Amino acid sequence: MAIEYLRLSLTDRCNLNCLYCTPQEKASFLKHEDLLRHEELARAAAAFARCGVKKIRLTGGEPLLRKNITGLVKMLKAVPGLKELAMTTNGVLLAPLAAELRAAGLDRVNVSLNSLNPAAYKRITGSDSLEAAWDGLMAALKAGFSEVKLNMVVMKGINDAEVPEFARLSMDFPVSVRFIEFFQTSARTAQLRDAYLSSAETRKRVEAAYGLLLQVPPGSTDGPAHVYQRRGAKGRLGFISGRSDYFCGACNRVRMDCTGRVYPCLFSPATHTLKDLLRAGTPEEALDDHIKKIFLVKSEYKRNSPTAGHIEMSDLGG
Ligand code: SAM
Repeated sequence: MAIEYLRLSLTDRCNLNCLYCTPQEKASFLKHEDLLRHEELARAAAAFARCGVKKIRLTGGEPLLRKNITGLVKMLKAVPGLKELAMTTNGVLLAPLAAELRAAGLDRVNVSLNSLNPAAYKRITGSDSLEAAWDGLMAALKAGFSEVKLNMVVMKGINDAEVPEFARLSMDFPVSVRFIEFFQTSARTAQLRDAYLSSAETRKRVEAAYGLLLQVPPGSTDGPAHVYQRRGAKGRLGFISGRSDYFCGACNRVRMDCTGRVYPCLFSPATHTLKDLLRAGTPEEALDDHIKKIFLVKSEYKRNSPTAGHIEMSDLGG
């Protein structure tokens, strides 16, 4: 499988403290000088693009906490060969930035929103920012992105009763609502062992509320999601089954964290790092050779393989 997709984490900091993502006690955050600078991120992105990457998704931590994010988007958008620049955000800081991010060249945005109920939202995120996140989603819909998705991590006993309400949003708004299977990562998420709900069960609940869904062929931006639509809906429904139906064979992505460590698989350790090469002014050709080596080891790592290691989503960005 050709590697065409890079998930780029811009920071390990987040303005939310989600129970499915952030470790209970985050001992410390990285220092400013440990993070790759904008120019270094753009050089790395250009090297990945020369090696075949066509799409970059900005993630985090919370990518909108990164200083001058609009300037960084402009720099990345100018990378030759890159066809698409997207972002995954919790939406809390998005409303005032959506139009300028779009103007800077961001093509698509995914907003993570896991409850529409203020008390449940606070339980999940530790924050009262539901209204700001909703405003961010609405601003994204107005800003003219080529696609806006809403990501809901479904957790039994926490937000699963809201599944029909989330599905309804795809009737009212041109938004792709994506139901994501929760999976365990840190010690904190182990406490949510019983919260797992399969995509099949989530879909049953949507169909119980609204009738049978029509399966539609996945589009080029759907990744591993199984996609459905309700008759007459403005948007679509996607089900991402990272736990019940993992998709290693079709995986075309690699991940880089904000310090330049590269992970060939979400479940692998970082096998390579680019920071020293970038800071040493390594010539393009040597940088590209290094990236090609990373691509070569990708097939050694799979979910549930002996190489699977500990992951922290809040550092790596999902
Ligand atoms: N702060 C941004 C946000 O909240 O969207 C970007 C980072 S967040 C780590 C990116 C994505 O990771 C979220 O949309 C969520 O779907 C996914 N994620 C994190 N922990 C997860 C878990 N335990 N199970 C399933 N998805 C998870």
